[in-house]
Amino acid sequence: MQALSEVEERIRAAGQIFLYLDFDGTLAPMVPDPAQARLSAEARETLRRLARRGSWTVTIVSGRAVEDLYSRIGLDGLIYAGNHGMEISGPHLHFVDPAAAARRETLCRLAGELAARLHPLPGVLVEYKGLTVSVHYRRAAAADIPKAEAAVREAVAGDDFRLMPGVQVFEIVPRTNWDKGAAVEWINRRLGKGNLLAIYLGDDASDEDAFAILPEGITVKVGSAATAHARYHLPSPGEVVEFLSWLGKKGDRPLFPARE
Ligand SMILES: [Mg+2]
Repeated sequence: MQALSEVEERIRAAGQIFLYLDFDGTLAPMVPDPAQARLSAEARETLRRLARRGSWTVTIVSGRAVEDLYSRIGLDGLIYAGNHGMEISGPHLHFVDPAAAARRETLCRLAGELAARLHPLPGVLVEYKGLTVSVHYRRAAAADIPKAEAAVREAVAGDDFRLMPGVQVFEIVPRTNWDKGAAVEWINRRLGKGNLLAIYLGDDASDEDAFAILPEGITVKVGSAATAHARYHLPSPGEVVEFLSWLGKKGDRPLFPARE
């Protein structure tokens, strides 16, 4: 397949490969309860193998908190960029977006109030993650989703936070200039020595920020939603793991062009 030979050529020509991966809906399949999301043994082994290569740097970029990500992946030697890139943790790397950190307490209060207000809606789950809040509605009745959205919109009506829609989730994030794209730029600048190829796979709206700052990268939109900035497309986490395993072995696995 042409896309794959392009990827193979770019990898061969690059001095360093920075591989970025979203977690839910990209590395791990979406499940009804977000607490049950798991990485398969095959995916973990493939990540371990890729991260061991001297010229490769593997980063997980997710809306989840860093601790949560680490507890699900459990690999040292990777970089974890949590809370949509607002916190970054890895070997000799530590970053917390100061604007987000300054609003921790306000956000904690907001999460408590919102949880109380949304409690009567079964299947709507408010998760406080330190720097951002997720309001999950994977298990909610369709009629309750607009009610949840209205409550979230009201909660973010001030200047401090904004609503960022995700895949079956409303994300409440601080109004700051930091996002997944900024996190990727920060890591590339911090660890890049030149002739760097970035490969980024993600399924979320927030991943578009990263696709947008990587016009020269191998950007892959996962799932069925449209993409504005990704170059390629993979249908589901199953194909992501196959693609990663191909990266590990250079086998013959399909990578499809992104939909318009
Ligand atoms: Mg995702």
